[in-house]
Amino acid sequence: MNIVSDLIPADMAKSLSALGLRQDGEVLVVGLPASQDEATRESAREQIQNKLGTQVTQIPVEDNLLVELLDSIYRDGFNKPFDPIATASVDSEGPMADLVNDVLERAVKLRASDIHVEPTESDLVVRARVDGQLETLVRLPNSVSSPFISRLKVLAKINIVERRRPQDGQFSIQVEGRQIDCRLATVTTLYGEKAVMRLLDTKRGLTDLAGLGLDDNKLRKVRRMVHAQHGLVITAGPTGSGKTTTLHSALHDLDVENLNVSTIEDPVEYIMKGINHIPVVEDLGIGFATQLRALLRQDPDVIMVGETRDAETARISVQAALSGRLVITSLHATDAQSVVYRMFQMDIEPYLVAAALRGVVSQRLVRRVCDYCAVDYTASAAERLILADFELPKKVTLRRGLGCAVCRGSGFRSRVGVYQVFEISDKMRELISTRPDPTDLYRMAEEEGLKTLEHEAYDLALQGKTTIQEATRLVTKDVN
Ligand SMILES: [Zn+2]
Repeated sequence: MNIVSDLIPADMAKSLSALGLRQDGEVLVVGLPASQDEATRESAREQIQNKLGTQVTQIPVEDNLLVELLDSIYRDGFNKPFDPIATASVDSEGPMADLVNDVLERAVKLRASDIHVEPTESDLVVRARVDGQLETLVRLPNSVSSPFISRLKVLAKINIVERRRPQDGQFSIQVEGRQIDCRLATVTTLYGEKAVMRLLDTKRGLTDLAGLGLDDNKLRKVRRMVHAQHGLVITAGPTGSGKTTTLHSALHDLDVENLNVSTIEDPVEYIMKGINHIPVVEDLGIGFATQLRALLRQDPDVIMVGETRDAETARISVQAALSGRLVITSLHATDAQSVVYRMFQMDIEPYLVAAALRGVVSQRLVRRVCDYCAVDYTASAAERLILADFELPKKVTLRRGLGCAVCRGSGFRSRVGVYQVFEISDKMRELISTRPDPTDLYRMAEEEGLKTLEHEAYDLALQGKTTIQEATRLVTKDVN
């Protein structure tokens, strides 16, 4: 993408709150505050057009977002490279601490979930995972590697001298008044120590089930599962598929005033009022199963088990679900139906699985088309072929992002969930209790209207929420 964000002179950008979004041929598309009326935005557009001497069009951009972007571009000098002086005097702690803070802050502002600090043969590469994709934040000279990692280790209060054994620790930073928890893990590579930090925004706005983006039919089913008095509800998917968010949204939907709701988590990610959060203490051998057993003596109504990793936890969860509690948990499984077989594998008798399991929400996250640069286009021949495979309409208009200042050229902004909601019917319950052949179970699920995750992803592309390419990426990533 051509950098157009700083085409408008700083003073003008600030006084008008105007941000160059993208270049559309000869036309510059400018974002102006959505809170202003059309006439005010039009007059700002004219001023910019006169000043730059090129044709300008304008679109409204959410005020908060606009302020944030203008700040990062014009005040913090986001497009400006790192100050080499900060990296030169690595002996003193001051500049190095500033450099590390700067990097962490940039990552937080990009809404990154992880930061990778990787030494290579030639330099130190810092990358951030944004919307599931890694992007390079900065490349630093090799000489910075060791002090940079040391600074992180100081923050996490782990052994600085130990450079060969893997270590982990945690610390918090404040960015724009928000507390961000960072979990640091180090490992030694051929070129020195590598560090990864997982970032947790503890004050991030939690949503209820309605905010997850499920369609009406799926939302109704999930609500039915979660508001049942007892039973087992499972979210399934790989790491980073949004399972935990779904679990928290489910808790958010409950009437915590009149219920005893407890969670067992590793770590406790979000604090919710009226809920007992119980952390797992692996160092002391107090895992999910131990905490779950203890919790059952606490007269619980609803239990959220962050993750079911072993057979013991699964067994206790099933017992709790059968003795009148609602247990919600997450499991690593490819799709909704395979959860049944994961439970068989964990030595849970089919009649118990059948009796306890109320439903499964299997999910993935795909990138959402950026609303600020989205355009409609006619599906290509290749795209029509893919849609035909799924018996979806072939002659269609699809939507894609052209790339702009808001999405930093990617054409995507934030992510959208792809969901498969598998509510266990009486007929299905009966089938599960017979330890059915997978073919039979998948056939019945299909007859009951359960689509594959791939199919659901292409449906989202047809709705213009994501692209065919992005949906396909999800499909290919799963084949491994
Ligand atoms: Zn965009």
